Amino acid sequence: MRSGGRSGSRSGRIVTGTDRIQVARHRLEDAACELRQTGNPHRALGFLTAYAPEELFHAAGLNPVFVFHTPEDHGRARAHLPSFVCWVVASALDQALAGQLDGLTGFALGKSCDATQGLADLWPRCVPHIPLFHFGMPTRLDGAAARAYLLAELTSLRRRIQDVTGRPVSDDDLRGSIATYNQTRALVRELYTHADELSPTSFYALLRAAHRTPKAIYNQHLAQLLAQPFVPPTSLDNGVRIVLLGPALGDPALFDALDQAGARVAGDLFDLGERYFALDVSDVSDASDVSDVNEDGDPLASLADRLLALTPTPSKHDPTRRRSAHLLSLIQERKAAGVIFARQKYCEPHGFDRVRMGRALDQVEIPYLSLELEQASQAGQLSTRVEAFCEMIRENLCPSIRA
Ligand code: SF4
Repeated sequence: MRSGGRSGSRSGRIVTGTDRIQVARHRLEDAACELRQTGNPHRALGFLTAYAPEELFHAAGLNPVFVFHTPEDHGRARAHLPSFVCWVVASALDQALAGQLDGLTGFALGKSCDATQGLADLWPRCVPHIPLFHFGMPTRLDGAAARAYLLAELTSLRRRIQDVTGRPVSDDDLRGSIATYNQTRALVRELYTHADELSPTSFYALLRAAHRTPKAIYNQHLAQLLAQPFVPPTSLDNGVRIVLLGPALGDPALFDALDQAGARVAGDLFDLGERYFALDVSDVSDASDVSDVNEDGDPLASLADRLLALTPTPSKHDPTRRRSAHLLSLIQERKAAGVIFARQKYCEPHGFDRVRMGRALDQVEIPYLSLELEQASQAGQLSTRVEAFCEMIRENLCPSIRA
């Protein structure tokens, strides 16, 4: 049975492509900022929203890491939050109240959905020992007013980071961090070009690591991994090509279910997925060449421009860049056969988005499956539904399936 790309090793043992990916996964998992670790050796800073000027924190010597929700519930958050708040937010508060985030240098939230706004109000009262960096992100992303507002917010955020860390953030520091992040983004974009050659579980692990591993380490390991060609495992032969949508990165159980169904990830519109890495900060490709960050030479303005230029999440609006148009072109470009919506239970922005996107998919007869992710793992149920969906596409049984 073929198991991936092969190359000989000095010991004579065959090193397969799958082995290579496993090694990279384990190295990245080892290097990931473990938020429960005491002492915070990586100077980790947590963040929770899909608009985060990570470079600004990185330039202050911090390592921004996304605080992913966990299946574990210590029962601490529900006393502070209504029952209809998504588990992404509730889990972050629960982890913080259980002391699992105590090592963080701070916690960053950009203005996005109502749930994260509520968390921004609660945080200073419930978790006063972890400084909150809350900044405004405009709801409407086009126009000069949005840019001026965001630039003012980032200027104020920079001052606050300097106050809390006691370290000045110079323009040159910021340009260096931008160059590092541009490299990460370029590598992750390359990873996406191989998404359909990797098992969904491996792809998810490599993608998730981008949000949890110090960038210099991540860049090194991912560059090594991408330097050799991939050969898809045989489990992906005849794999149905799926585009995924939802908040954050969905759930590991979803990728396991795709694996079991023999599906391939063709692309995604996750808040922290392809869109998050889509654009570089303008023209900063080399830290040694800091002269042409943008026309103004202002790295902060470049950061603002990038955040505004990303494909909007469902809680933002830009009449010139519609999510449905982006989704349809993604499907066409990647030759995807179906779409899976992986919405967190109680997530309103993605609930409304699902209706709009569903209409767009109906018009072009692309089949889709709507899943609701919950706190507790529903691996069995997810597997059954994903498998049935892929099988219906394979057998041409979806009423709206594209020819
Ligand atoms: S976008 Fe949805 S899942 Fe994410 S924090 Fe807001 S309500 Fe929760």
